[in-house]
Amino acid sequence: MSENIKVTEIFGEDVFNDSVMQQRLPKKVYKELKQTILEGKELSLEMADVIAHEMKEWAIEKGATHYTHWFQPLTGVTAEKHDSFITAPLPSGKVLMSFSGKELIKGEPDASSFPSGGLRATFEARGYTAWDCTSPAFVRHDAAGATLCIPTAFCSYTGEALDQKTPLLRSMQAIDKQAMRLIRLFGDTTAKKVIPSVGAEQEYFLVDEKKFMQRKDLTFTGRTLFGAMPPKGQELDDHYLGTIRQKISGYMKHVNEELWRLGVTSKTQHNEVAPAQHELAPIYAEVNVEVDHNQIIMQTLKRVASQHGMKCLLHEKPFAGVNGSGKHNNWSLTTDTGVNLLEPGNTPHENVQFLLVLSCILKAVDKHAALLRESAADVGNDHRLGANEAPPAIISVFLGTQLTDVMNQLITTGMADHSIGSEKLETGVKSIPEFMRDTTDRNRTSPFAFTGNKFEFRMVGSRDSIAPANVVLNTIVAEAFKEVCDVLENAEDVDMAVHDLIKKNFTEHQRIVFNGNGYSDEWVEEAKRRGLPNIGCMVDAVEALTSEQTIELFEKFGVFTKAELESRKEIKYEAYSKAINIEAKTMIDVASKQIIPAVIKYTRQLADSINAVVAAGVLEVEVQTELLRETSALLKKTKDALNELKKVTEEALTKEEGKESAMFYHEKVMPSMEALRTPVDELEMIVDKDMWPMPSYGDLLFDV
Ligand code: ADP
Ligand code: MG
Repeated sequence: MSENIKVTEIFGEDVFNDSVMQQRLPKKVYKELKQTILEGKELSLEMADVIAHEMKEWAIEKGATHYTHWFQPLTGVTAEKHDSFITAPLPSGKVLMSFSGKELIKGEPDASSFPSGGLRATFEARGYTAWDCTSPAFVRHDAAGATLCIPTAFCSYTGEALDQKTPLLRSMQAIDKQAMRLIRLFGDTTAKKVIPSVGAEQEYFLVDEKKFMQRKDLTFTGRTLFGAMPPKGQELDDHYLGTIRQKISGYMKHVNEELWRLGVTSKTQHNEVAPAQHELAPIYAEVNVEVDHNQIIMQTLKRVASQHGMKCLLHEKPFAGVNGSGKHNNWSLTTDTGVNLLEPGNTPHENVQFLLVLSCILKAVDKHAALLRESAADVGNDHRLGANEAPPAIISVFLGTQLTDVMNQLITTGMADHSIGSEKLETGVKSIPEFMRDTTDRNRTSPFAFTGNKFEFRMVGSRDSIAPANVVLNTIVAEAFKEVCDVLENAEDVDMAVHDLIKKNFTEHQRIVFNGNGYSDEWVEEAKRRGLPNIGCMVDAVEALTSEQTIELFEKFGVFTKAELESRKEIKYEAYSKAINIEAKTMIDVASKQIIPAVIKYTRQLADSINAVVAAGVLEVEVQTELLRETSALLKKTKDALNELKKVTEEALTKEEGKESAMFYHEKVMPSMEALRTPVDELEMIVDKDMWPMPSYGDLLFDV
């Protein structure tokens, strides 16, 4: 890491981006590739050969020896298989470095070890990775040297999506087509494309690597399964936006430099609410690029941490009792000419196109609330959603004062004749420059909040891909757009028809709008009255993937087939069962081999001390005796709970795979895990710290 870097010089230096392509590719090839990227035109193998050659030459100049198709199977992490550029030895015994068009556009990893949810029998192992030229290739430098990474989609021999990217690209086509119809109706004749733009704010924790290694729960599951609360948590609100400590700033600087070299626009960094928690946000980008960039961000955060003697925790809930981590997904729709369809302007009541778009989004979110909630469903995220730190599990939309007022005007009178304007901010201090305050305050508790010119979906978990949420957003909004365009393209009086549709959408779907406190119990009651779904856990949430309404939606736009949806549901059940199984086994291991032996040692020490004190002729040993009794009682509770957890964990293995198994883990194994944790955490508060077999919450959170 250099001391003084010029950001403008290093930015994107490891990316095969537009300027590199323009410089290196013959004009004709460059033009054709651009057409493929922008218009989806097919690329000939001849052209691919030229591009592959130039890409290889460029990568070798950066020190690369290998290339990999970089893809996102349904494991939650990215996958790669490295091939070096070397050819078979020549007669001279020397080798050449080569890379063909075929190798660039198609890869054939064995697909049998990736989750397919029954889409593909294990003996039919063939899977293909296909170059996604809309997301630029890059060279990654790490301990393995330098590797040319080529973003790809991953599908089965028969073309079914086995990854996150394929459906994402399909959903982008769907929203593009319908949004184009809509803006044409409003007279936009120049735009050629409408693209979802996304900015994902990434939260994470940093802990000391040595302490991390001493905790098997963190090592095996990414979260703590035991741990008493330290005397101090996050109650003083002194960490959020607090001064960043030197060690952490050094880490952030290093992360930023790596990200900038990879063309990731790392922009904002700050301390988050919980101790040891931080956030990084890039500048928004086209959603397919942002999905890849978010993966790069997560990998970089982890890799760089170990170079600074730390571990980066991306789990949604590493510690009980303090906030978990999420990922706010800021979403908008932009034309290739730079117009944001979610920009209300100063007088939204007059902005008819915006109002139609907004009313369509309300309709989409209301109709498909359960599906949108599902898109953020993950084992770890169950600990956040609805736990008064993240949005509740109930989907609602925050519109703010101004837009809610416009909506209400339209619903009640059919006309909106004014927008509540912004006012001067009065601070009462003369030396502070005057400025206009926003037309609405912020709302932190809403899962889907309108924030100026974008919607912020706040449910996604910190370690999860943002692809599923955006697949859903793109497709449900495409459907709502389609429904209005179908009417408008055939309307005699378009203005009148637009007016009626806006009013209809707002009227029928106003129940989804909620501007109040999403953390309150009253909201849970109110939402129930409104008939909004409140889906508390992942196992229940995944049902939405195969509802009739969902299948119809995704098949209509060619985003998922019914079989693909069913497979995804199976994969999620399986992932749930496996994750809880690992957590339960880890608890059993730690309790049996570390905690119970440590507590026994401690009771032995107490007993010895009682005997020694009595032998010395002192009979006042009440304190020691009481401690010994208390500890022994908790030890007994621990052992009983451990036996019970072992029993249910074994029983879980007898359940049928899929929903039955996942349900059992949720309803039986999870509560038994809690029942074991409770006495252990109490013991941690009693037992001599030197004898406790792992670092405490206090050690992990306040001593990074
Ligand atoms: P917050 O105050 O909620 O942290 P920021 O203004 O920092 O919001 O933006 C958060 C994220 O939203 C950033 O990644 C930013 O680039 C992104 N963002 C800003 N405008 C848009 C937009 N029009 N569409 C999509 N994302 C956007
Ligand atoms: Mg935000």
